[in-house]
Amino acid sequence: MNASQQVPVLIDRSVDALVRFEDVKKSYDGISFVVKDLNLAVRRGEFLTMLGPSGSGKTTTLMMLGGFERPTLGRILLDDKPVERLPPEKRNIGFVFQNYALFPHMTVAENVAFPLRYRGITGAAAGEKVRQALGRVSLDTLGDRRPAQLSGGQQQRVALARALVFEPSLVLMDEPLGALDKQLRERMQVEIKHLQVSLGITMVYVTHDQSEALTMSDRIAVFHDGRIQQLADPETLYNQPSNRFVASFIGENNTLPCTPAGREGELAVVRMADGTVFRAANADIAGPAGEMSVSVRPESLALADGEGGAGLNRFSGKARDVFFLGDHMRLSVEAFGGQLLTARIPARQARHFEPGEDVVLECGVSECRLLGS
Ligand code: ADP
Ligand code: MG
Repeated sequence: MNASQQVPVLIDRSVDALVRFEDVKKSYDGISFVVKDLNLAVRRGEFLTMLGPSGSGKTTTLMMLGGFERPTLGRILLDDKPVERLPPEKRNIGFVFQNYALFPHMTVAENVAFPLRYRGITGAAAGEKVRQALGRVSLDTLGDRRPAQLSGGQQQRVALARALVFEPSLVLMDEPLGALDKQLRERMQVEIKHLQVSLGITMVYVTHDQSEALTMSDRIAVFHDGRIQQLADPETLYNQPSNRFVASFIGENNTLPCTPAGREGELAVVRMADGTVFRAANADIAGPAGEMSVSVRPESLALADGEGGAGLNRFSGKARDVFFLGDHMRLSVEAFGGQLLTARIPARQARHFEPGEDVVLECGVSECRLLGS
């Protein structure tokens, strides 16, 4: 592909971006694109996570930024300079690969020193940087060991030290905690986040684990099928998902097919499958055509209580399964003529339900979101 085929792009300079992807596309086979029309600005100093299911194009995107793959079309700017033709070692980017990729025949210290050697830094200057990097990840005393003599968590820290040793302004991590058990993974999430903040580095982090993304990130780009579905901070992503994919990938959501039937101020009025009228937020997306649904989270559904009112959608159904889980009860309810919903009822409101028993549920209208595709 040559440059003349590229569409000129207006660069939005209003954001202090360290990285810009501009209309980036990637095809491995020359037939289909696995990354499609990627436009993304990574702000200086932020922790940005690419979150998505396996095969959604996260690693490919990271490899293009790191210089291990080339975009088929489009540009990648680092500090406003195009880098597509720069080899990885000229980009000043630290990289932690999915499988750590430590050299088994080298000691920990030699592993960490490797990127320095690559950049022509040796001797005492290198030694000092290696000591510092190992200190940052609490491995000061293990420099002489070989990777095989370390635990999984320690190996992970070595990979981290190696990515930080040359003081890059940008660090990329591809599922770095995937091989660790849950407890260690959660501890490392906090450690990595602390390091990122205290060193002031920009982080682009890849994971398929939504709770990891919510814990660590300033912003999350949700990937699906080679496209960013939504880019937002964790709270916005959780509370205001922009489509069905995001609504069900981040946390849990009930997706209820509906037909738009009008508007009341900021709210959409919709009819559920059995004719029940609901009010829902995000009315602006209601169009004349296309499949619509209302999404509502299990924790937004409550057992109906009192009179109801204008701010509440109320509906009845039949209990199907009831599970007590200590701090809450999960109740599945069939409503709207055959739709199964899940409600998460706090323990203090929980009571016994027989299968088939009538249940009346309600939810705040602002917690019901109208979504298109
Ligand atoms: P993710 O990291 O989100 O799981 P990837 O970027 O690894 O996604 O993969 C996106 C798509 O590109 C997948 O369909 C995958 O099979 C394909 N793919 C990834 N790497 C290569 C490669 N080196 N050669 C051919 N196809 C690839
Ligand atoms: Mg991957």
